[in-house]
Amino acid sequence: MNAMDIADNIAQIRQQIASACVKCSRNPEEIHLVAVSKKKPAADIEAAISAGQTLFGESYVQECVAKIDEVESAAEWHFIGGLQSNKVKYLAGKVAMIHSVDRLSLAEEIDRQWEKLNSTVDILIQVNLGAEESKSGTTADELLKLVSQVARLQHLRIKGLMALPPWEEDPEMVRPYFRQLRELAAQVEALGLPNVEMEELSMGMSHDFEAAVEEGATMVRIGTAIFGER
Ligand SMILES: *Cc1c(COP(=O)(O)O)cnc(C)c1O
Repeated sequence: MNAMDIADNIAQIRQQIASACVKCSRNPEEIHLVAVSKKKPAADIEAAISAGQTLFGESYVQECVAKIDEVESAAEWHFIGGLQSNKVKYLAGKVAMIHSVDRLSLAEEIDRQWEKLNSTVDILIQVNLGAEESKSGTTADELLKLVSQVARLQHLRIKGLMALPPWEEDPEMVRPYFRQLRELAAQVEALGLPNVEMEELSMGMSHDFEAAVEEGATMVRIGTAIFGER
């Protein structure tokens, strides 16, 4: 996509986020736009950076690492896709946050890899709200147990929850899932565990981010509406 279109799209989305914030009396500065650049070339990312976007989300490990190396301008990278434990080592030290932690074994491997760097990484626990077979994420029922186990690991910090709810044409049909994620975060918060802060709710994509913002999202992950169809 050409650079001007990417800049226009980002401006448009920021405007829509601001409007959604007016509706629900939130401060737009609370909402971080994660530009999802998977399957898009480094040139598109550079165009977005020129337009003031600094936070990017990638879903595939190899592609993510290649692009982090390729993009020369400063940017912050989040990993948002399904993650196999044996690939965590490639991300170590390169991404600032992993949104898709859904099992203890994966969290343990993240902990191990960041320990080697004598460092820590921010993570979100992914919840599979629709209990869909095809999607990763812990179930709402298992969430509290998983959080309490992961919280014991010293080289990561639990910063919130992430969800990829069932796809619905009408964003209003997704809204109850967004609300449910916020309620689950409140339940986790109430446990008062050390190493756990429910600061971030990563929810909302290109077609439903306004409803997500109204329901409390602090990170919206937007690909298509910025970079075009994949
Ligand atoms: C691809 C992807 C997105 C972005 O989806 P769009 O509909 O293109 O905005 C958001 N979150 C995750 C986890 C993704 O894999």
